[in-house]
Amino acid sequence: MKKKTIGVLTSGGDSPGMNAAIRAVVRTGIFNGLTVLGVKKGYEGLIHGEIEEMQLSSVADIIHRGGTMLQTARSKEFMTEEGRQKALNIMEVFGMQGLIIIGGDGSFRGALELAKLGAQVIGVPGTIDNDIAFTDYTIGFDTAINTVVDAIGKIRDTTSSHNRANIIEVMGRNSGDISLYAGLAGGAESIIVPEVGYDVDDVCKRIVQGRNRGKLHSIIILAEGVGGAFEMAKTIEEKIGVETRVTILGHVQRGGSPTAFDRVLASRLGARAVELLINGRTARMVGIYKNEIADFDLEEVLKSRKEFSEELYTLARILSI
Ligand code: ADP
Repeated sequence: MKKKTIGVLTSGGDSPGMNAAIRAVVRTGIFNGLTVLGVKKGYEGLIHGEIEEMQLSSVADIIHRGGTMLQTARSKEFMTEEGRQKALNIMEVFGMQGLIIIGGDGSFRGALELAKLGAQVIGVPGTIDNDIAFTDYTIGFDTAINTVVDAIGKIRDTTSSHNRANIIEVMGRNSGDISLYAGLAGGAESIIVPEVGYDVDDVCKRIVQGRNRGKLHSIIILAEGVGGAFEMAKTIEEKIGVETRVTILGHVQRGGSPTAFDRVLASRLGARAVELLINGRTARMVGIYKNEIADFDLEEVLKSRKEFSEELYTLARILSI
């Protein structure tokens, strides 16, 4: 019997740990006797046939590297029916019977459309935002929050020296998880997330109460989905007269060597994705759910909103009084 051929691509925003996932797909595939094709630049590269067979050695020395060795892209053409048909044709030409898509929710929407045309697809959640339902964590989130925690420590040093407040704006799109987890781990005085919103008087009160207890600094961590960092700084200065600086962390949160947690998660999810293809499954997403590796219907995943942890948010508020 002819060997089954599968493909792997990374799409949309990159995240640390994508390389570890690619490595897991390639090595699990080859271990199981499959031919594994690497597709460059996401759906854009698929449409244009930027495809190469992967060997065990193609993924050597990448588990610790940030970014994605297959590169990633956003593809306007793939948003069209014709574009997706072209992608499907290319899959046929290369004998690709299944495709693993490592990316975020946009990439999964594309994957689902491809599945509707008859392709066998499996999604692996790779995004720093942690905004995908049915997976407690996405690949890259842990590395991103560790980057933010590191930044909080550094900013606290300088903020304390000057007796200031500092608003740190973090990524996450409409999700507050980076703000919440990094804020809790970094001991931020205020954590602001789009799921809850904020009251500027509450933020000011926390700064004043902290000062009265002898605190030299105040760190406010703000999710980009809320926005308005500079206006907030101005309002705080006007209301309580505390010099307030703004730090927008930006793309530094997307880079860096993945943490051990992200490497292990990516390895497990990548391997499970291959097993699903071998078992003939399609339109599934692999995830870590209640601490177990599991898989879910991709359409269901995309219809559901990731649950925000009220419990963690409440705890963070209690611990930062
Ligand atoms: P992410 O996967 O990080 O959320 P994007 O939202 O940019 O990133 O999506 C990546 C790519 O997936 C897009 O450039 C596009 O080619 C494809 N895609 C996104 N949404 C759809 C959709 N509704 N239908 C088809 N393809 C889509």
